[in-house]
Amino acid sequence: MLKVAKFGGSSMADAKQYQKVKDIILSDPSRKAVVVSAAGKRFSGDHKLTDLLYLCHAHLQYGVDAGSVFQMIRDRYTEIRDELKLNIDLEADFDALWQKMQSGISQDELVSRGEYFSAKLMAAYLGFTFVDAARWLTFQTDGSIDEEASYAALAQIAAGKCVVIPGFYGVMADGSVHIMERGGSDITGALVAAALDADVYENWTDVSGILMADPRIVKDAQTIKRVTYSELRELSYIGAQVLHEATIFPVREKNIPLNIRNTNDPSHPGTMIRETFDDAVEDGIITGIAGKKDFVIITVTKSGLSSRPDSIRKIMEVFEKYGVCVSYAPSGIDCFSTVVEAARLASCRYAVLADLEKSLKPDKIDVSENIAVVAVVGRKMASRAGTSAKIFDVLGKNNINIRMISQGPEELNIIIGVNNDDFAPAIRMLYQSFAK
Ligand code: ASP
Repeated sequence: MLKVAKFGGSSMADAKQYQKVKDIILSDPSRKAVVVSAAGKRFSGDHKLTDLLYLCHAHLQYGVDAGSVFQMIRDRYTEIRDELKLNIDLEADFDALWQKMQSGISQDELVSRGEYFSAKLMAAYLGFTFVDAARWLTFQTDGSIDEEASYAALAQIAAGKCVVIPGFYGVMADGSVHIMERGGSDITGALVAAALDADVYENWTDVSGILMADPRIVKDAQTIKRVTYSELRELSYIGAQVLHEATIFPVREKNIPLNIRNTNDPSHPGTMIRETFDDAVEDGIITGIAGKKDFVIITVTKSGLSSRPDSIRKIMEVFEKYGVCVSYAPSGIDCFSTVVEAARLASCRYAVLADLEKSLKPDKIDVSENIAVVAVVGRKMASRAGTSAKIFDVLGKNNINIRMISQGPEELNIIIGVNNDDFAPAIRMLYQSFAK
């Protein structure tokens, strides 16, 4: 049994958090590979190490003395080392880094040092081997990860060892450090799990898994115990945010379950994410409810629209031309609606409308503003009557007008559009009627 455990910034914020991580790792000998983020915030108003590193680079770039920001970074890590009474020479590393900063360092290399120092400290604390991401994680020239080469390299380096690996960065073919997008350590964790053919990828954070609804809207929302990768895609597309989006691909490809856990509540089982579940042992019909405000619905009406084979293409071409993604597209015989995020339309709204006029010569175009989209997601809705009836019943009884409906035949989710003002009440009502 091999578990890969990735710890996010809040789990690495100070010596107290390091102790929690150690207890978690030592409580299960199958946790043999650990991936870490840079130190996160210790309290609200505190700084993330990665942010300080970006700031440091900005100072260098504009010729402002970076000394005091650099000292803050140095202090954070030496403080953790001293509190944990670790015998490791960070000073030499920091001095060398400062020298390099004076002679010119890339932003990527400087910013990657947060994860680098976290991993060095954690490796020393656990008595595990430190494996620099620069030794195995390689990027191709287009910025994508060279999975085959990276997996092979790590499998060889980590064989038979207990290792700690920094997240968030790797190297280009020429050896220069290259970082991922913000939050990228989640991806490194997934890559390590895939490379080592782990039995599970544990992603340790500061929440006990994914909640059935946004806790800012639904107080005491329950944790989702089990969610499939497809359900998670639906939920995160529409607002639920726990993992970096690209995290799931490496583990999904290899059918490795992903378990989201809470470093501050390690006895909580968290959320388990897999390709499929034996639903005989499952709980509710609904897995989660997510949503997003501020969509616009543009409806093109033209008599006979659906009997012209080129009309939908022409409409979509306009959105494509302006780089606007169409999220949903409900249609009727003589009309076709596109639901798009208002922010994406902001800079090109009049050009889009003008082009639709020109290309389609429609009878009319209607624009509905301030639309919120709510997705009720659940793999167990499939081939089962009654879920949509319940949704419409509860919203209808509470006088919430539904502006748009969308559901595909795979029945993974039911999407409804409501007015922005009805967004939070709709989610609360749906949660209450399905979760309790
Ligand atoms: N430290 C990086 C960030 O703050 C990467 C990570 O924590 O995943 O984005």
